[in-house]
Amino acid sequence: MPKKVTIIGGGCAGCFAAITAAESGAKVTVIEKNPSLGKKILSTGNGRCNYCHDKVSFADLFRPEGDEFLSEVMSRFSPENVLDRFRDLGITPVNKDGYIYPYSEQARAVSDVLKRAVAECGIEVISGTEAADIVRTDSGFNVICEGKEILSDSIIITTGGKAAPGTGSDGKGFDICKSLGHNINPPVPALTYLVIKDHPYKKAAGTRLSAKVSVEVSGRILSSDTGQIQITKNGISGIPAFNISRFASRGLYNKEQVRMHIRLVPDLSDEQLKEEIVRRFDRTGTTPYEALIGLFPDTFADSLLKNAGIDPDRIPDNGRKTADRLYRYISDIALEVCGTGDFSDAQVTSGGICLDEIYPSTMESRIVPGLYLAGEILDIDGKCGGYNLYFAWASGYIAGKNSGT
Ligand SMILES: Cc1cc2nc3c(=O)[nH]c(=O)nc-3n(C[C@H](O)[C@H](O)[C@H](O)COP(=O)(O)OP(=O)(O)OC[C@H]3O[C@@H](n4cnc5c(N)ncnc54)[C@H](O)[C@@H]3O)c2cc1C
Repeated sequence: MPKKVTIIGGGCAGCFAAITAAESGAKVTVIEKNPSLGKKILSTGNGRCNYCHDKVSFADLFRPEGDEFLSEVMSRFSPENVLDRFRDLGITPVNKDGYIYPYSEQARAVSDVLKRAVAECGIEVISGTEAADIVRTDSGFNVICEGKEILSDSIIITTGGKAAPGTGSDGKGFDICKSLGHNINPPVPALTYLVIKDHPYKKAAGTRLSAKVSVEVSGRILSSDTGQIQITKNGISGIPAFNISRFASRGLYNKEQVRMHIRLVPDLSDEQLKEEIVRRFDRTGTTPYEALIGLFPDTFADSLLKNAGIDPDRIPDNGRKTADRLYRYISDIALEVCGTGDFSDAQVTSGGICLDEIYPSTMESRIVPGLYLAGEILDIDGKCGGYNLYFAWASGYIAGKNSGT
């Protein structure tokens, strides 16, 4: 008799787990609360689905401790394996600075090929149905959902985290796992914007700038990233801000003091930046505002000078001294972070089921034999760049392979 595997959550990890378990010989059922599978895929990568990164390192996916868990996952299903698997399913990759997209640059292509593979494998899909609970029985599990009870030998929970709840991932999976005995690192929003207290650059909202940003929590710099930031009405957005947001969210959750540091013109060294500013202020008869033309967008230059305590329109008595003041200010603009985007603004969840409760070689629970977990429900989250989807596919694959045999 083939093993009966029930998968709760037909998103990225769930679809990959389902296809792999079915190919391993299992009789597979997927329970998905949305009317169809893979809703979140459609909004990934701005509708283009950055479905993997060409290289994944330990620094790209954050987890509480050690490298062992990720190392096991990567040795069993590497980014190269993800690309090969998707090629088999019909997706030709295109590599843009390491970010991998389907050649058509349409996220729909990824969800379409997954749905096709699910159908071809003869997987039963119970859609529009929410799993409410899982009860252990003498021989396996009973999944309770909307008046139905589904008996299974193994279960894979792939209900995602709490980010983008409108796509289905509302955190219900955490409650189910808790009731089965698992521990959860409290989920907080990640890959989202930072809200700045008494935002001094409110007037420059809409400006995009190159910058290195760092996050300081209770006096310690925990992470930095460089790229294009975007000033918004209530804070700072853009990929570098997204990439450090998990640390800010966790710090705020723990009621710690969180600050953001911005170093402008990151492509110049400290010495080069100083020279550049001094050179601009060395011209006689130039106002500070004029001195910055061409270096920063006009709306931003005005706010920058005012925040540095320099009158934008008054020719300085001592250009060198003013240049030095500005240089010191733009080398480290420190802003107090008082919030982040909430789960509906976040792309991923930081926190989740504690990794030390899962065998990384199989994704089976160490607490409940026969129960497997994969994807964003686990306490691991990546930067922007295809790392989160890499982990969803890889962990889904491993869970599917091991639950089905
Ligand atoms: C706007 C946006 C853009 C993103 N872009 C990228 C990107 O380009 N590259 C990248 O790597 N990552 C990206 N991500 C992150 C990535 O999409 C997620 O990390 C990934 O989808 C997680 O996969 P998952 O299968 O664990 O969860 P999900 O894909 O969230 O799937 C979980 C599924 O479980 C279902 N479910 C939940 N509870 C129940 C229940 N009780 N019963 C039945 N079904 C249930 C949900 O409806 C959902 O379909 C993006 C995220 C967002 C929100």
